[in-house]
Order: sequence, then structure tokens, then C-alpha cells
Amino acid sequence: MHEFSIMQSVMENVERVAKEHHARRIEAINLRIGDMTEVVQDSLDFAFEVLRQGTLAEDATLHVETIKPFSECLDCGNTFEHERTDLRCPACGSSITKQLKGHELDIASIELDIPENQS
Ligand SMILES: [Zn+2]
Repeated sequence: MHEFSIMQSVMENVERVAKEHHARRIEAINLRIGDMTEVVQDSLDFAFEVLRQGTLAEDATLHVETIKPFSECLDCGNTFEHERTDLRCPACGSSITKQLKGHELDIASIELDIPENQS
């Protein structure tokens, strides 16, 4: 399952960062995911529910920002946002395009609860 392995690597990353900062817990995890990755939000939420048990992120909230696919037409130079399944340039109809956005799979930020006496 695609989403499960994505979430597994997210959890490994955020736990490592949280431990480096001596955080008591992780309050929120903010992801940025491109629509072209075909990640299903429900599956991601489910994977998170399972994987957060017993971790520093047990009570964390998961936010996912979806990035719309964005491409450049290599024929006319037009740049445009589009649906996952329609890659053609709306200006000239060309299908020779270069994807600029939409493949993101990033941890945008995480919010940590860090004790006062640590820095
Ligand atoms: Zn074009």
C-alpha cells in the first residue's frame, strides 16, 4: 500500500526530528502532497491512525495540503494548472509539456511541544 509506506517514512522523519529537539510530543504534522502522486487522503489518514500509536505523534493532528498539478508547455511557453488526467496545454493544445508542480511528497513543517528548559 502506497500511502502506508509514505506515512511510515514521514513518521520516521518526524520522530527523529522530535527527538533531536527533545520534544515531549508532536502536536501537528503538515504535509504537502502533489496531486500527481495519486495519494489518497483517506488511506493516508488510516495509515497515520495505525502508525501513530505509541509514538510521540500519538495525539498529533495531520494536515495535508494538496498541490495542484502545474505544467509548462514546451511548444508555446504557457504555464498552467491542470487536472491529473488532462496534461494538454489549454492555450495551444500541445501535449508536449513539462511538469513543474504536482509530484511533491514533502513534510512542510511539524509542530513540537518542547520543554522550557531545552533549546
Ligand atoms: Zn502551449
